[in-house]
Amino acid sequence: MKRVRCPKCDHYIIFDETKYEEGQSLVFICDECKKQFSIRIGASKLNAIRKEEKIDEQENKDSFGSIVVVENAFAYKQVLPLKEGDNVIGRRNKGMNIEVPIETNDPNMDRKHCTINVKRNKQGKLLYTLRDNGSLCGTFVMNELVGDREQVRIEDGAILTLGATTVILRAAEERQ
Ligand SMILES: [Zn+2]
Repeated sequence: MKRVRCPKCDHYIIFDETKYEEGQSLVFICDECKKQFSIRIGASKLNAIRKEEKIDEQENKDSFGSIVVVENAFAYKQVLPLKEGDNVIGRRNKGMNIEVPIETNDPNMDRKHCTINVKRNKQGKLLYTLRDNGSLCGTFVMNELVGDREQVRIEDGAILTLGATTVILRAAEERQ
């Protein structure tokens, strides 16, 4: 699966490039702003997209950890860094500034779906706390629904479900 960005609103459109041949022109209608645009599939363009997708999960090793988005029908794999404090996670939308914007067409992911708070305790250990932001479909940790006003401590490798999307917490390495 490949993606193109809408020139008008920046929304990503995912398509199956294996159905097309090099040199063929494709016409897209953006499902966010309805703009129609076309691209021509060329070898250089496909290579550029591939290069961009080579994301190193170790890149954020010294920071506050990251969120790995598992590739599915709505989105490609993404690794998004966390920062200290509140990290709002949701469907990326141009003009909305959140800490963890996920590029996806998942209709069941809210634009401010849930929040992970990252803080360091007195011993210097990073603590990750998840809460739901009143999302329509809820936030699940290891298939358990996060209740209203509930704060759930999560650890490295925790599997979260937001709509039809699965994300994994990669905690930062402990500093000694
Ligand atoms: Zn658009």
